[in-house]
Amino acid sequence: RSELLKGEHSRNVGPGIDSWSEFQPLGVVAGVTPFNFPVMVPLWMWPMALACGNCFVLKPSERDPSSALRVAELALQAGLPPGVLNVVNGDQEAVDALLAHPQVRALSFVGSTPVAEQIYAKGCAQGKRVQALGGAKNHAVLMPDADIGNAVSALMGAAYGSCGERCMAVPLVVAVGGATADALVAGLKAEIAGLRVGHGLDPEAQMGPLVTRAHWQKVSAYVDLGVQEGAELVVDGRGLTVPGHPQGFWLGPCLFDHVRPGMRIYREEIFGPVLGVVRVETLQQAMDLIDAHEYGNGTAIFTRDGEAARYFSDHIRVGMVGVNVALPVPVASHSFGGWKRSLFGDHHTHGMEGVRFNTRLKAVTSRWPTGIRAGADFSIPTL
Ligand code: NAD
Repeated sequence: RSELLKGEHSRNVGPGIDSWSEFQPLGVVAGVTPFNFPVMVPLWMWPMALACGNCFVLKPSERDPSSALRVAELALQAGLPPGVLNVVNGDQEAVDALLAHPQVRALSFVGSTPVAEQIYAKGCAQGKRVQALGGAKNHAVLMPDADIGNAVSALMGAAYGSCGERCMAVPLVVAVGGATADALVAGLKAEIAGLRVGHGLDPEAQMGPLVTRAHWQKVSAYVDLGVQEGAELVVDGRGLTVPGHPQGFWLGPCLFDHVRPGMRIYREEIFGPVLGVVRVETLQQAMDLIDAHEYGNGTAIFTRDGEAARYFSDHIRVGMVGVNVALPVPVASHSFGGWKRSLFGDHHTHGMEGVRFNTRLKAVTSRWPTGIRAGADFSIPTL
């Protein structure tokens, strides 16, 4: 902790005067989190806030509120003093109360872009420090020289893992060259045929149901829309039933080919098991598409060409980049965050960015006078 919070020290900045800076806690920090990772996303926030010396108030998603309470109970059992980590359940009303509370100095938000944008504006207007992580539409680029088999395996997990309900999911693959796209679609189709959808507690299941009926209706409607927009539905997951669970919100993996940038299924976040293949002729065309998209959370390139990979990671306008890694989620010591409308605020979350978000800088200038005081001194320290 002292390593993370230490600032800088300068000796003799003036006659007998030393100066140093240090990062101090803010006081009370709050967090508002989404439904899709009810333990992990809060863990991006509160351990760092506490390590920096703050107390924390967590407002988890109203769709799965109990895991936050369980983690807080475990923290108490582990010896955390009461009142240091707090959980308050609710919806917009609870969030508005946190944003209006004078003791809450900062608020971390993770959720959809319209809410992120709203909370960022409201929080800033009330003098809070806010980091608001929003939605995503991550593109992976498949180059003609890539190991297609490995890329297909990685993309299966990235597109359909957690039923596509994660902000680092890959819902779009941009294939460079027609032959690359054909091989990709054939590979995905074969893999999808073997994908097992089932109850979340079934150890054999690789993909579960969607989170709510409303979300299932929304994602299914996007599949209908893709067909109307003229994309080719290569694999249709609609109408899936899982024996023993007739009321489940099931949607099997869906695969669209010939998705084009003008389509809503290209532009909008679907947050379900729907993967679209976009066909282009060059890496630059793929990069131009990604750069033009409103979201910039994550992206990946699959290639054996180091020069292309370096060019891509140097120039692409996205916050987290993978090279032959479909889900480039940074480990905890690096920070997590997107660009463009995937993040409102100046700081990414956890890692050193988390330390800066959860602290404020103080600079101390000190002199211990010796000898006889010779009248009033109006000077300020100068270098
Ligand atoms: P959501 O925006 O509906 O809800 C997120 C949180 O905001 C919840 O706690 C909810 O109670 C609260 N909330 C909802 N409406 C509000 C309002 N009007 N005012 C104040 N608070 C409000 O998001 P969700 O459906 O729970 O989660 C899915 C979304 O989260 C997707 O868009 C996904 O991309 C995004 N997400 C982003 C990241 C990231 O790191 N960028 C990570 C996970 C999820």
